[in-house]
Amino acid sequence: MEIVILDLEWNAAFYKDEMRFLNEIIEFGAVKLDENLNCIGSFSALLKPKISRRMNRRTAELTGIAFNDLKQSDITFCEALKNFTEFLGDAVLLTWGTTDITTLIDNYFMYYAERTLPFMTQYCNVQEFAMKQLNLNDPAKQLGVKACVDILEIVPDENLHRADSDAYVEALIFKTLYNKEVFEGFIQNAADPEFYRKLFYKPVFINSLDNPLIKRSAMRFYCPHCASRLRMLTHWQYKNRGFVAHLQCKKCVKFFAGKYTFKKMYDYLNIQTRLSELLPEQPHEENVVIDIESDIDTVSV
Ligand SMILES: [Zn+2]
Repeated sequence: MEIVILDLEWNAAFYKDEMRFLNEIIEFGAVKLDENLNCIGSFSALLKPKISRRMNRRTAELTGIAFNDLKQSDITFCEALKNFTEFLGDAVLLTWGTTDITTLIDNYFMYYAERTLPFMTQYCNVQEFAMKQLNLNDPAKQLGVKACVDILEIVPDENLHRADSDAYVEALIFKTLYNKEVFEGFIQNAADPEFYRKLFYKPVFINSLDNPLIKRSAMRFYCPHCASRLRMLTHWQYKNRGFVAHLQCKKCVKFFAGKYTFKKMYDYLNIQTRLSELLPEQPHEENVVIDIESDIDTVSV
């Protein structure tokens, strides 16, 4: 099984046909690994833009690509994609997060009026894989490539933010964290329509306790000092994407604020809890003495 790590650079441009902005892909960069994780090839292409009329300042700063470089390129998106398809072969396609894939789909749609990528059969979000391997369980805190490089103390010998060097760094991260069994669990069948439903799914915060996914009886907190169950002083109130209540330990005569946040992901529920001890004389959420515990749990739905 071969692996291709793809990284794209894009430029925000106005797409007149659809009267909206579109992130036009300006560079492909990819690295290919064999099943022993040896680097067996690389791919890069700077594309001639179709709708970009100038370079977005942020993109220019980030990538160092000048609009003139693009204009001088004679590779169109379609040609680059054809070459990339050959390079990919039947390898598993990896990207850091799903934005590269959704951007690729958006660009593909502009040329082919299709929202599925026929050349991609197996896909893995290498960011998700890395977060799993590093035990980072909060899907709300997306791990960036730079942050991951810092955690792993990898020293890449190329500058970040050009597509091919990004792909190279992502390959280094992948190799450092590689575990065959875990990786195989992250490979998705991209030929299945379900793949696209999941890809475009937007997580939602549940804002009603009547939602059948919520087990209200399980919403409880225990005193961090004596382990007694805390008594509720208020009802659950929806605030900042979660449910907050004031609680008390009768035994210790201490006050707390407890918070439950329920985030409905595509196929699981993310439950986050947080307990803070409050000042005894003014038990309001603003008067936190100390954040005692926070916990994240996931439940399949
Ligand atoms: Zn207590």
